[in-house]
Amino acid sequence: MPEGDTVFRTAQALGRALAGATLTASDLRVAALATVDLAGWAVEESVSRGKHLLLRLRPPDAATAAPLTLHSHLGMDGSWRVFTAGRRPAGPAHHIRAVLHTTEALAVGYQLKELALLPTTDEPARLGHLGPDLLGADFDADEAVRRLSRDPGATIADALRDQRHLAGIGNVYCAELLFLRGIWPWTPTAEVTDLPALVALARRVLLANSRRPVRTTTGSLRRGQTTYVYGRSNTPCRRCGTLIAVDNRGERVTYWCPACQPAGTAAPPGGAAPRTPR
Ligand SMILES: [Zn+2]
Repeated sequence: MPEGDTVFRTAQALGRALAGATLTASDLRVAALATVDLAGWAVEESVSRGKHLLLRLRPPDAATAAPLTLHSHLGMDGSWRVFTAGRRPAGPAHHIRAVLHTTEALAVGYQLKELALLPTTDEPARLGHLGPDLLGADFDADEAVRRLSRDPGATIADALRDQRHLAGIGNVYCAELLFLRGIWPWTPTAEVTDLPALVALARRVLLANSRRPVRTTTGSLRRGQTTYVYGRSNTPCRRCGTLIAVDNRGERVTYWCPACQPAGTAAPPGGAAPRTPR
């Protein structure tokens, strides 16, 4: 599942393949962009902000057009892949949303949740709602803590996944970070004793994973060994042996160890969250 580290690595791969090159053809398969032709536009750079990808483009003639940004969001299933020019893109054709050609490379976007073309100067307006980017060089931990604290009644799991607070965390990191800190996911944010430590851990774990091809929170790169709780319902906790619990009734899936992350005194919103594994 794409989270901040995946998007960061994707931006780097696109940058290596495209930055500095001029597009020779493009095919954007979303209704609003169907007639757009980016041939002649040069790729300036490829960057990520949280879970958003920004491909910045320079016009063929700076006198007649302003720089544009191709903005994409991977959602749950999206990806970008790079191929050598002339190769046939892998995967089902009906999943393809974007194709960018240069003389050397072919970049293909699959199942993108969002794809838009906007003036580069509009980036702040489009992404201004995002909290500090956990993988950004400009990451501001104090600001992230301040934003997390803004809604003290929200559960810490919801607060962590809200990209307006800090950008880059999805279901996987949410589950893993709360396990590592021993925090029950439905704890009200106001009752989490050390938010700065949680934010610092998030930054550390995402940074480490942005530099390796396989995401791990346990330190092990072996298949099936890379998470403590995520995706491990009804299997023994790696620390205490208690069966890992899962709550997947809402839009968001939450995994936790009922023993390592004991429920506090606060009742979950609506009394909905199970406290024991099912
Ligand atoms: Zn445990």
